[in-house]
Amino acid sequence: MPENTCCVCGEPGVHSLGGRWFCERHHQTATRERRGAWRSNLGLILALVVFVGLVYAVDSFVQPAFTPSTLLLTGVLLAIVPALIWLGVFYQQDRLEPEPKGFVLGVFLLGALLAAAVGIPLVENVFRVSDWLYADTLTTILGGILVVGFAQEFLKYAAVRYSMYNSAEFDESTDGVVYATAAGLGYATVLNVMFVVQNGGVDLGLGVIRMAVVALAQAGFAGITGYFLGRAKFEHESIWWMPLGITLAAVANGLFNWVRGEVTRGGVSLSGGAANPWSGLILAAVVAFICLGAVSWLIHRNVKSALAAK
Ligand SMILES: [Zn+2]
Repeated sequence: MPENTCCVCGEPGVHSLGGRWFCERHHQTATRERRGAWRSNLGLILALVVFVGLVYAVDSFVQPAFTPSTLLLTGVLLAIVPALIWLGVFYQQDRLEPEPKGFVLGVFLLGALLAAAVGIPLVENVFRVSDWLYADTLTTILGGILVVGFAQEFLKYAAVRYSMYNSAEFDESTDGVVYATAAGLGYATVLNVMFVVQNGGVDLGLGVIRMAVVALAQAGFAGITGYFLGRAKFEHESIWWMPLGITLAAVANGLFNWVRGEVTRGGVSLSGGAANPWSGLILAAVVAFICLGAVSWLIHRNVKSALAAK
């Protein structure tokens, strides 16, 4: 492709920005700020915390009785809720500047598929992390970053990079974060469903906290990768740019896993061994807020300086 063609559609470029060329239309979309993406991420965080509180309250006060199969079914349904909340808030926010809904759902499903077909088998069966990850602090941190973190973050990156990234629908600087978050929630949903199935259902109150933690963390770290993806598409970045983004996300992922273990001590299990599951949820909500807030702020700053340079 010649130097001065639009990096989104390949038509003749008329504006240059960050070392890339854009046609008139895509220069506009690339410098458009989509506040809706941040609102849906904020909505996800708040709605998940409320949802967890409600399920926990129902579980404590009503103490519903389950048969093994209804317990399993309820667990699987709960595992899907975080993604439904995000998609719901996203579509609500997205009416004004719509992203094709099928594509967002498609990347979500691709993230789920990569988790089920590659990520979880790799981490659980090839590396067998559950056998050694929690042996000692250093192992937990290094294994969490180098094995679990890199596997998860690379696959979420791949779900966007080898699908939407090359499409003309990937035309706004926020799109990296939107699609990566979708992939992250796809990954989280499969992790949560697997957890429910492996345990034959979950204690509702504790199970729903764990699911929200996984969803928030996976969405938050995916947001980091998504920011790097967006800049890689719309600006000329050096060769280490994308590896740096995935590494940052993997480091955040591994460190989070360790800190969560420290603050919840005992973890969340069927037998109710959790010393303090709520602190894990608060930690995950804060981490997701910081990750997704930081990338939104960085995009806001990039768009502003791009417009100022015009
Ligand atoms: Zn164009």
